Amino acid sequence: MNNPVFAATASAPAQVTDRLGRPLRDLRISVTDRCNFRCVYCMPKQVFGKDYQFLEHKELLTFEEITRLARIFTHHGIEKIRLTGGEPLVRRNLERLIEMLAAIPGLDLTLTTNGSLLAKKAQALKAAGLKRITVSLDSLDDAVFMKMNDVDFPAAKVLDGIAAAAAAGLAPIKINMVVKRGVNDAAILPMARHFRASGHILRFIEYMDVGHTNGWRMDDVVTARQIIAMIDAETPLEAVDPNYRGEVATRWRYRDGGGEVGVIASVTQAFCRDCTRARLSTEGRLYTCLFATTGHEFKPLLRGGASDADIGLAIDTIWHQRGDRYSEIRTAATAPLQKIEMSYIGG
Ligand code: SAM
Ligand code: SF4
Ligand code: SF4
Repeated sequence: MNNPVFAATASAPAQVTDRLGRPLRDLRISVTDRCNFRCVYCMPKQVFGKDYQFLEHKELLTFEEITRLARIFTHHGIEKIRLTGGEPLVRRNLERLIEMLAAIPGLDLTLTTNGSLLAKKAQALKAAGLKRITVSLDSLDDAVFMKMNDVDFPAAKVLDGIAAAAAAGLAPIKINMVVKRGVNDAAILPMARHFRASGHILRFIEYMDVGHTNGWRMDDVVTARQIIAMIDAETPLEAVDPNYRGEVATRWRYRDGGGEVGVIASVTQAFCRDCTRARLSTEGRLYTCLFATTGHEFKPLLRGGASDADIGLAIDTIWHQRGDRYSEIRTAATAPLQKIEMSYIGG
């Protein structure tokens, strides 16, 4: 398959842009659709119950398939890969995959986890070549945290995981907190106080209408502006310039030098204009938006003898046709669409 528009040379990898001029830079790879939590905003128990049909093992991309794809993606613009899920640490031998991916030259490799297995695994992840990590934690208060994770998992064990990650040198650690009005909004200030001056960066995420099972309503969203105003009233903040173009979190610094916090305002301040992210599902479908309704199959290519060039061309062609900007055009009418679940394509 030859296509001069996307032709790559050994010295200059092809760099395709989409219909809105955005390059392909970040890839999130979901390594499992399973999770040991049932966060109410992501995998509500009523849907992800005992009878829920998760993918069978043979349907999952193997570590070899993921690594081959990752390598090809890096020749087509990808600079950063985030492993996610589901809960990535429940995938057996994940350390082995990290070792394989860490061997790809120039790749920035990171992982998002609920932290439940981190105390046990932090050292092994670091030894395998992981550099950084993001840990999700929605409250320090067990009653509230358990309401969010819905499996009675205590906050202290996640804090142990964060401490183990720091001790292993997986720094800087980012902490993700999804805020759902009426459930954990009272946890905003205690979380800010706890992580202030810890060296870890706390990021508040607006509750999003991902998937179609979490019963999302705009009324449940505490906006980034409200979150920052709340913290600023207690400990004054000032805005900080982004680290790079397209950074998802807006950065704020404590005026007294006590570190920084971030807000991810995907609902109220859409950042589609700079969105350079693609997502690969556990079974090898590529999605060009978190709110996509359909994906592009790569498993048949991988298992059907396609060459690296064929797969590269497929990547370029899909990205070239991309026009996604869901958050910019979100309305009450789009929220109930049959969008793919976050636990399937990864956050
Ligand atoms: N299980 C891992 C975890 O929770 O960190 C990784 C996968 S999870 C889907 C990735 C991120 O998405 C987490 O930080 C989670 O809090 C966030 N997330 C899930 N559902 C969300 C929603 N409806 N709105 C905003 N963020 C959400
Ligand atoms: Fe699991 Fe993460 Fe979704 Fe919570 S947010 S249910 S931990 S995948
Ligand atoms: Fe990117 Fe889609 Fe999110 Fe917009 S809505 S920032 S295009 S993932």
